[in-house]
Amino acid sequence: MSADPSIEEKPPTMATSFTNSWDIWYPDGSIVLIAEGTAFKVHTSILAQYSEVFRDMFRDGVCSIENAKTDGVQRPTEASYEGCPALSLQDKASDLNHFLKSMYHLSYLERGAKTSFQKVSAILTLSNKYIAPELRKRAFNLISTVYPSTLAEWDEKSTLRLVHPFKSEYLSYLSLAVQTDIPVLLPAIFFDMSKRSSDDVIPALGDIAGLGSWGIVSDYLLGIEKLRNLEVKYLLQFLDLETLALGCGGCEGRLKSVANVAIRKSAATITGMVQKCTIKSSVTDYVQSLQLCKTCVPKVETAIHRGRERIWEELPGIFRMSEWEVLRAEQLSFLEDSSPTAGTRSESPT
Ligand SMILES: [Zn+2]
Repeated sequence: MSADPSIEEKPPTMATSFTNSWDIWYPDGSIVLIAEGTAFKVHTSILAQYSEVFRDMFRDGVCSIENAKTDGVQRPTEASYEGCPALSLQDKASDLNHFLKSMYHLSYLERGAKTSFQKVSAILTLSNKYIAPELRKRAFNLISTVYPSTLAEWDEKSTLRLVHPFKSEYLSYLSLAVQTDIPVLLPAIFFDMSKRSSDDVIPALGDIAGLGSWGIVSDYLLGIEKLRNLEVKYLLQFLDLETLALGCGGCEGRLKSVANVAIRKSAATITGMVQKCTIKSSVTDYVQSLQLCKTCVPKVETAIHRGRERIWEELPGIFRMSEWEVLRAEQLSFLEDSSPTAGTRSESPT
């Protein structure tokens, strides 16, 4: 006799007030997944091939679900639907649709092809929840084209990105990075946020569901203060004539007057100068506007680019995170790791 009498009972037949998915309904499927009233008839073999959580559930037939390791995943309720075992999942139907399609159609997350945030975020979220390493890796690779970990990729973001842009996207990416536990995305997201009006960013942070601890918000707020100071220091270092040592009287005099004007005028003047030095494509124009000689122009440009590199290198530390190398290595091992504890690696480092 089983300790749990409910296992002995015949599984209840589910109410049939569901809509069958019009595009994910394989007549020869072996299981029905139900989310938000939509039923998807799929194959246990396909689910098990991609997802470790489903593999564990199906190991000894779907009825072993009561014993399945579903750490971190709310245990689905089991019944039957149209003569097929059915699992009711706590996911959005549209997310599940994207997730299942990515299993059935290799081209659904095609390498190098542009896609939508909704699609890639659904796949990343569910591949994290159901531990589907291959799909998680593919989704992460797309997401990281928008918030990369290198300055070179950041500078080319508008041409390299494979997820279509949308308004205030940084908030959605922040939420996704936190919910799927991908810290390596955060420095670039915070950097992007720091370039936007605090009036837009800060109130919106409170609305992000699952932002979890306020630690992230305070790391951000303390970080932008530090970032702005370092940007003035590193990007405008060319105004420190001793450090630059141009050895050109005319240009040194010119830069001295630029510095004097900046100091005398409002903080907005300095912010404007920093802004021009922050964006790679505007550095050349900015240096041209300083009207320096041909010899000094490349020296000043190089100094600004060195400042940009320093900022990027220090970005994670500014926001109280581990350095880039550690974040990238952690991400790599997270993507490689297929153990069921992968989703909670921060609590249980192995
Ligand atoms: Zn000169």
